[in-house]
Amino acid sequence: MEEKKIALITGGARGIGKQIALKYAINGYNIVLNYVSDSTDIKALEEEFSSFGIEVLLVKADVSNYLECEQMVKKAMDKFGKIDVLVNNAGITKDGLIAMMKEEAFDKVIDINLKGTFNVVRNVVPFMIKKRNGCIVNISSVVGVCGNAGQSNYSASKAGIIGFTKSLAKELAARNIRVNAVAPGFIDTDMTSVLKDQVKDSINAQIPLKRMGEAKEVANVVYFLSSDESSYITGQVINVDGGMVM
Ligand code: NAP
Repeated sequence: MEEKKIALITGGARGIGKQIALKYAINGYNIVLNYVSDSTDIKALEEEFSSFGIEVLLVKADVSNYLECEQMVKKAMDKFGKIDVLVNNAGITKDGLIAMMKEEAFDKVIDINLKGTFNVVRNVVPFMIKKRNGCIVNISSVVGVCGNAGQSNYSASKAGIIGFTKSLAKELAARNIRVNAVAPGFIDTDMTSVLKDQVKDSINAQIPLKRMGEAKEVANVVYFLSSDESSYITGQVINVDGGMVM
């Protein structure tokens, strides 16, 4: 029997991250599922993922905390002995106009979205280098490409992820590790559910496909970018946005 591959997904308990984790589980990967909220129903997630005949390891860790990331990767390596795919998905928003933005709102978004991506990558990559094999997919955003009023902190973090992705792709290609980013547009999750219907309608009107995306539609592209179907793609940013940015 072929050895199962291992995928580590940060922020994998809900939203886009959960759909990404499910995509790998359906395709026979064992999963390391990271979460941070105490309200996470661990038992329900274990049951849901195990129903695909795979093993799932749930690890609580705040990605902005380097030590917790180090310990998470150690737990994953102790259990599975390797990590084939890393998806850096955990992320938050703390929107506000720059004239009103508190320093804390800037720091927190950078710490979780950008530094958090570094914290996990830094701990996983040595094992991928040793195996001369691996795929990393970082979740950016279209606003990291084109900016957005009221999201200077978030856009900066997501643009940072793009620069980080391209540098890693150049650095790690010789070790047979591919690194790409996915930039979602306007996706239906908890993150966007806070928006008023009127705001959602006006955003949808500006999207060529005239609707929000589903988390599954992002997961499909993430999975593609870590599969052999994308074996000649590295250092790219793929927008999944219904044509919002082109
Ligand atoms: P969401 O529903 O709000 O979920 C956010 C996820 O991030 C949760 O799984 C959460 O974990 C995790 N997370 C937050 N802070 C964390 C921390 N310090 N350590 C570990 N995990 C943490 O958001 P989403 O829409 O699924 O977003 C997922 C990713 O896609 C984010 O990077 C986001 O920026 C990006 N994105 C989303 C959209 C969109 O329209 N929704 C568009 C572009 C990009 P818990 O469940 O444990 O709280």
